[in-house]
Amino acid sequence: MGSEDTQMPFGMQILLFCLLLRFFTATKNELPATMNRQNFELLILGSSSASPTSERNPSAQLLNICQRYCLIDCGEATQIQLRRFKARFQNIDHIFISHLHGDHFFGLPGLIGSMSLLGRKQALTIYCPKELKDIIEVINQHSETLLNFQINWVFTNNRGLNLIFEDDKIEVYSFPLKHRIYCTGFLFKEKPLPRKIDKYKLETLNISTADILKLKSGFDVVNENGELIKNEDATLSPPPPRSYAYCSDTVFDQNIVEYIKNVDLLYHESTFLDEHKERAKKTFHSTARQAAQIAKSANAKQLLLGHFSARYNKLNDFLKEAGDVFENCELAIDGKKINI
Ligand SMILES: [Zn+2]
Repeated sequence: MGSEDTQMPFGMQILLFCLLLRFFTATKNELPATMNRQNFELLILGSSSASPTSERNPSAQLLNICQRYCLIDCGEATQIQLRRFKARFQNIDHIFISHLHGDHFFGLPGLIGSMSLLGRKQALTIYCPKELKDIIEVINQHSETLLNFQINWVFTNNRGLNLIFEDDKIEVYSFPLKHRIYCTGFLFKEKPLPRKIDKYKLETLNISTADILKLKSGFDVVNENGELIKNEDATLSPPPPRSYAYCSDTVFDQNIVEYIKNVDLLYHESTFLDEHKERAKKTFHSTARQAAQIAKSANAKQLLLGHFSARYNKLNDFLKEAGDVFENCELAIDGKKINI
């Protein structure tokens, strides 16, 4: 290959110059391991089970994973919660509905109607049980609601871990849960990040700016002294990819553990306390202690409890009960943000 082939366009040279400037002017306090990490943040919009209370809306969460905004379940009045907690709902391009009990989707017709009224044009993808498409179409037909945007439907199934969305940054899977009606959980995973240039090493290695891009892409390079520089000698391991599992309504079921192994944050419903465990079993729900047992078996890093029955005014007992089994627990409280 002639030298002309490796000549870099001027724009690219400027870009590389800026990149290098960024490396050499960063302070030592910036940990390379966290560089370029994108947001992975969960906002709780609703944490109540069947009936809402004055403080708790029915199930809904907004996940920002690498700037992909995913709404997970959409209980009644979710659009009001989005406004209340200052989340821009036109950013939402993906909606995941776990099952067709009303407290998990009654907010959907209103939300998509508002999206249309407010001028949405870009398509929306809804991942859900297949019957939801009929429900929404009947509502829109009889209420003469005409949407200005397209809905793409992706139907979940109960055949194990099932990839339902993928792009260059993330993957989303559904997996079966055991509830009174067909229900799935969802697993959100970051894709592995590329290796990072070790800017302190770079100063000593005599590598041309053109070769920095090659290093970033994972290749070895030959430096200006003709020495081979192995990729691992000039780059740092990226931080491990993060993950979030959403276990919507389910009876205590050890079978789900295989789908959510080593997850960073596990949301598991805890509709009841252990004193009502018979009621939990009968209604295909779980207790806080059972949610903690699942978190422990799955080796999750953190457990988020939610879907609390309206019979409980104070939620501290949920933390106490789960904390006996699994240390790192949090309560889903409407408006709470959790960084993953
Ligand atoms: Zn349910």
